[in-house]
Amino acid sequence: MTDLVFIGGGHSHAIALKLWGKKPLLGINITLISNVKNTPYSGMLPAYLAGYYSYQESHINLEKLCQFARINLIIDEVINIDCQNKKIMCKSGEKVNFDLLSIDIGSNPKISNIEGANLYGIPAKPVPFLLEKWQEIIKNSQENNLENLILTFIGGGAGGVELAINTHKRLTKILSPEKLTINLIHKGNRILGNHNEWVSYKLMDILINKNINIYLNSTVKTIKKEEVILTSGKQIISNYHFLVTEASAPLWLKNSSIMTDENGFILIKNTLQSINYDFIFATGDIANMINYPHPKAGVFAVKQGLPLYENICNLLNHKSLKCHYPQKYYLNLIGISDETAVASWGYFSWESPLLWYFKKYLDTAFMKQFTEL
Ligand SMILES: Cc1cc2nc3c(=O)[nH]c(=O)nc-3n(C[C@H](O)[C@H](O)[C@H](O)COP(=O)(O)OP(=O)(O)OC[C@H]3O[C@@H](n4cnc5c(N)ncnc54)[C@H](O)[C@@H]3O)c2cc1C
Repeated sequence: MTDLVFIGGGHSHAIALKLWGKKPLLGINITLISNVKNTPYSGMLPAYLAGYYSYQESHINLEKLCQFARINLIIDEVINIDCQNKKIMCKSGEKVNFDLLSIDIGSNPKISNIEGANLYGIPAKPVPFLLEKWQEIIKNSQENNLENLILTFIGGGAGGVELAINTHKRLTKILSPEKLTINLIHKGNRILGNHNEWVSYKLMDILINKNINIYLNSTVKTIKKEEVILTSGKQIISNYHFLVTEASAPLWLKNSSIMTDENGFILIKNTLQSINYDFIFATGDIANMINYPHPKAGVFAVKQGLPLYENICNLLNHKSLKCHYPQKYYLNLIGISDETAVASWGYFSWESPLLWYFKKYLDTAFMKQFTEL
């Protein structure tokens, strides 16, 4: 019997496993190894922090998905892969054999270049740690008569901006505005630097209207318990420091013999296979499509779910594999709470409450395919 193992319950795997449950191939033993039972849906994460969605509404239940797809679920963290002997090493000490492997483990914000970040920073990923800290902040704000609460977000991309706006939304329901300070620190000269200028300036206006302090052209050097220090020497007093910096890959991947780019992301072909092992597939943030590099965003991981399922089936059926071509432009709907959203699609951009409802419709429809299994 062929052993097919999926590592990580990311967006592409969730879709591929659902398809597997609907149309399985006989004679294949499938296992998912995930370090969480519930995996967050990125499109809903900021709105979950703002209180628009519940935990269940914004997370895919992997136990239920695996039951539906009749596959084994191991809750453990993968720490290495021996490609020669086709063995996966888990944190618990368990070793799992495979014939065919698929990796969709996402990415984490880069923290290695900021002193003290591993001690005092709160990376936006892994999400469970972010949520644990967020609950602590909510509890602290509700139960203690706080004089002042200061949150600092490091990284002015879409993730950092959405987190700043949505945490502001939730906390202003608990604390009076004068007790809350939110800072956003960005190293570039405009936030959302990979979007068009209208989007950057629109979001700047929105942040300013909410009294969120924006520090542009500012690079964080050190994080201490109660302050963030910039390379310019400026000290910013802060209680909680969130890292939403550029994506990075886990170090253990470098110890496996899977070929990666200079940042540690798995290099893949258009068939979604690793460039040096045809029996290994990789998708989502952790993969770098060598011929078509694209930004790290959930939308690409979602789109890779169907071709991943089809190509694994093709390989198992000894058929030729199809090429997947990621879209050049993608629609980014940035939820800015207050029930409105900004759309960014290449040179096109728009702000409207209609977009908020459109985003809500798309995100809810995405989750429905898993809640209704
Ligand atoms: C705050 C924030 C907001 C964002 N908002 C958006 C948005 O609105 N739209 C958008 O398109 N993108 C958004 N993104 C980006 C998006 O989150 C990622 O691009 C997307 O999650 C990537 O999906 P993935 O399938 O690669 O991995 P993930 O969704 O990260 O899933 C990876 C899974 O693998 C598990 N895992 C990780 N390591 C291991 C291991 N060693 N062993 C076992 N399991 C493991 C993880 O727990 C997780 O369940 C946002 C990011 C952030 C930080």
